Amino acid sequence: MSQREVHVKIILANPRGFCAGVNMAIESLERALELYGTPLYVYHEIVHNRPVVDRFSRHGVVFVNDIEEVPEGATVLYSAHGVAPALRVAADRRRLRAIDATCPLVTKVHLEAIRFAREGYTIILIGHEGHDEVIGTTGEAPDSIRLVESSEDVDRLDFPPGARLAYLTQTTLSVDDAEIIIGALRRRFPQIVGPSRDDICYAAQNRQEAVKDLVPEADLVIVLGSQNSSNSMRLAEIARSQGKRAFLVDTYREIVDFPLAGVETVLITAGASAPEEVVQECIVYLQERYGAVVESRTVREEHVSFPLPRELRVLT
Ligand code: SF4
Repeated sequence: MSQREVHVKIILANPRGFCAGVNMAIESLERALELYGTPLYVYHEIVHNRPVVDRFSRHGVVFVNDIEEVPEGATVLYSAHGVAPALRVAADRRRLRAIDATCPLVTKVHLEAIRFAREGYTIILIGHEGHDEVIGTTGEAPDSIRLVESSEDVDRLDFPPGARLAYLTQTTLSVDDAEIIIGALRRRFPQIVGPSRDDICYAAQNRQEAVKDLVPEADLVIVLGSQNSSNSMRLAEIARSQGKRAFLVDTYREIVDFPLAGVETVLITAGASAPEEVVQECIVYLQERYGAVVESRTVREEHVSFPLPRELRVLT
């Protein structure tokens, strides 16, 4: 059978792609470029997505991993993942004009960390070591925070009975994995307290829910997103945990060599930092090569938006 005779159905998951925090961060960078031009610096990737970062790099934006790389007096944006207070102090010392594009849902976790630490709690932060968000949150109360990544890490915690403990989570975890770890914490430390509302953000939860609902109908899952995007990784993991093959790719170009023989239905979704443009390119590729037909399926509606940072709002 020629490749053109293979007919593939695409189930297009909704919601997918950009969340309110990513929209705000990208719009902030576009606005800052308009207002201040280049050189313009961003501390860490503005969002964890290669095509987005490449597009801004082509426009002269410089992404740095060390604030000391930003020349004194220059303009710097903090990414959607947030930064530690020590970083803000270092930026002040260099007299940088700092624009804070931290997602408000990440800021919420920072504020909870500050509150728990002030009240004398030791905070168990459930998250992924080295992730920008975890580094930023830990920096709010470095002496009071312990990171756990799994139930095994919980088993290794050693606190005296009755210790004053609280837990927080990274915003983009798998809901199911987080529940398992929180369950392990509650069993070992029944006195542990948590945030008043879940920290896993609406966007991560909704994208996971859509994959969970739709994956039984698919033979293969394509997640548009970058390898360093936590929420995108979780989507691919959920598909694999249901026994389905799943690719996490920045663009369709990464799957052109993969034969779709035997595949009738492909579920397409995108992480919260992946632009719709790469989703549409992937669909066009599957249509042209396999005569794919698209069925759009909405599992949940989203109507969330966040305002631009104050520094940019006053100038609009
Ligand atoms: S994934 Fe959630 S926490 Fe992260 S930027 Fe988007 S809305 Fe904010």
